[in-house]
Amino acid sequence: MKRPELLSPAGDLDRLKIACIYGADAVYIGGRDYSLRANANNFSLEEIKEGCEFAHKLGKKVYLTLNIVFHNEDINGVYDYIKEAVLAGIDAFIVSDLFLVNYIKDNFKVEVHLSTQDSITNVESVKYLKNMGIDRVVLAREVRGCDIKKIIEETKMPIEVFIHGAMCTFVSGRCVLSNYFTGRDSNRGGCAQICRFLFDINDEKDFSMAVKDLNMSKYIKDMIDIGIASFKIEGRMRSPFYLAVVLSSYKRIIEAVLNNTLTDDILNKEITILSKVSNRENSTHFYMKDADISDQYYLGRNENSNQDYLGIVIKKENNLYTIRQRNYFKVGDDIEIITPNLDIIKLSVNNLLNEHNEKITVANQADSIIKIEIQEELPLYSMLRKPYLD
Ligand code: SF4
Repeated sequence: MKRPELLSPAGDLDRLKIACIYGADAVYIGGRDYSLRANANNFSLEEIKEGCEFAHKLGKKVYLTLNIVFHNEDINGVYDYIKEAVLAGIDAFIVSDLFLVNYIKDNFKVEVHLSTQDSITNVESVKYLKNMGIDRVVLAREVRGCDIKKIIEETKMPIEVFIHGAMCTFVSGRCVLSNYFTGRDSNRGGCAQICRFLFDINDEKDFSMAVKDLNMSKYIKDMIDIGIASFKIEGRMRSPFYLAVVLSSYKRIIEAVLNNTLTDDILNKEITILSKVSNRENSTHFYMKDADISDQYYLGRNENSNQDYLGIVIKKENNLYTIRQRNYFKVGDDIEIITPNLDIIKLSVNNLLNEHNEKITVANQADSIIKIEIQEELPLYSMLRKPYLD
């Protein structure tokens, strides 16, 4: 079995670092221009350089999205921007507009990946793109597993597919709801996620067009078996905590599959963990069958923020760990610690100090500095959370 790449979103430098530390083999990022998440805190060229240096030191790769639908006025400056991004250390560009392919391939030694925005779903398209010199295709989310297998077998093209996160209600990139309702162009980075809103239709209140989120954890073995090159997580706006939990969960599943140690117990544990960090129902959508009414999610947006993230280890002196606290917890609480080594450590909090080393009983101020004595050896960037496992 070939080891697949685990590919993480990274909305900013902090997320890029957490993704690399928590098991991503590569990250995809957006620059300030030409990327489909214009409202994310996108990377400046200096940040791209810093992110590439950080990732490369850990043996990870960085891909830059250039996947807006280019209008004439968008083309000014893109060639210079690509040159700068290559100098900054980018390993691949994710493009949707084909005019960029020859320019990049003729001038630079970096890979070109075709974005999911191009909705590629069949063998012939992939063969055509391979002949153009494209190095990888990110398939449309709407392709069944048996068709992914056929594409890989008949083209030998490295194929990337989404395994986790939000789905577009409409075939990705074929939607103008956001343009119509808000004037924000979803194909130039402005999607306002209108499909998640609640609509009143014919006096029927609260109808939403949204679909459930994608979760392919149960099918990772199958996806490795058919030779998918890259497993992609959605969500450049997701929090560092979300990324750490989701990436480490998928990484453990992938390692267990490759080592032939995956059991139902292990898988169910990871499914439980992934369900805790998600605030919407999920589905496998098109992988096993055409999506149907069971894949719809009628409840609209779910704005409940996750309160499970308690803090992150930012310093250690022997067994005294300095934590940047996030959500409320107190002495006597049972908590879990996840580590960049993919361990999950259970702990009962019995020793809390404030930043002046004075005893406290509760940690209740977001972003404050606290200290905890912990006997286990924890790496920096370990994260404290509410218990997810019995
Ligand atoms: S409004 Fe919904 S379906 Fe349309 S582009 Fe945005 S997320 Fe996709």
